Amino acid sequence: MRAWTLGSGSRGNAVLLESNGTRVLIDAGFPPRVLARRLAGLRVAPESIAAVIVTHEHGDHSCGVAAARRKWRWSVYGSAGTLRGITRLEAPGATVIEPGAPFVIGDLEFELVPVPHDAAAPTAVLATSARTGFRAGCAHDLGTVPDALRRAFTRLDLLLLESNHDSGMLRSGPYPVFLQDRIASRTGHLSNRQSSAFARELAGKSLRQLVLLHLSEVNNTPRAASGSALAALAGARARCAVTAAPQDHAAGPFGDARGGGLQLALGL
Ligand SMILES: [Zn+2]
Ligand SMILES: [Zn+2]
Repeated sequence: MRAWTLGSGSRGNAVLLESNGTRVLIDAGFPPRVLARRLAGLRVAPESIAAVIVTHEHGDHSCGVAAARRKWRWSVYGSAGTLRGITRLEAPGATVIEPGAPFVIGDLEFELVPVPHDAAAPTAVLATSARTGFRAGCAHDLGTVPDALRRAFTRLDLLLLESNHDSGMLRSGPYPVFLQDRIASRTGHLSNRQSSAFARELAGKSLRQLVLLHLSEVNNTPRAASGSALAALAGARARCAVTAAPQDHAAGPFGDARGGGLQLALGL
């Protein structure tokens, strides 16, 4: 399995997974013209993507879903609350997934895991390749790490995890206090420290790559987020590359040589 981020942050999110000919997006938080441009940069035709799994209905994760589905016939998967919250999504072809119930798209087996965030029924995504057993976990927006996610994300090879803000920058930054409180709350977004602590917990023999998602452009920097993660992983003696995903262009591939064409991410 290989993965790319097409862009990550409050102005849009999408992750492309590819395994043995199956292509699936996790979130489509860009308009179709942006998705098409970034996919073209990876030489991926939008029509070759089978489905999009939507983690929650916030626009930075779902704004392209309905139009891309009409344009490119993508199947759409998500929790009932997420699918209800996506505007202009026509019900036929959208599949409601019960969190915890595995489902298969081509070579990939998926499971949705509920996470705390201020959306209707937000989830993280676990993806396993049927052919290789490669395991990738993607957690986009969450305020805290629930035990169910700890259990689901064991033995990962690739972790894509929110590292939204540096707590000091958030508290000394320009956002009004109510917004600072919302971001830092249990249903907000993970700080660098929270994200690093979870990555450290998960860092075992198999975890080789950590991709930091959804960095705030106001309350974080790639250097602060990567530095926090690298320090935590070094403390756990983990051999794991760390990459901060950019907002405005694609990054990758991250993943498995058996998926073809491994490029190790450079540790920052
Ligand atoms: Zn978001
Ligand atoms: Zn959100």
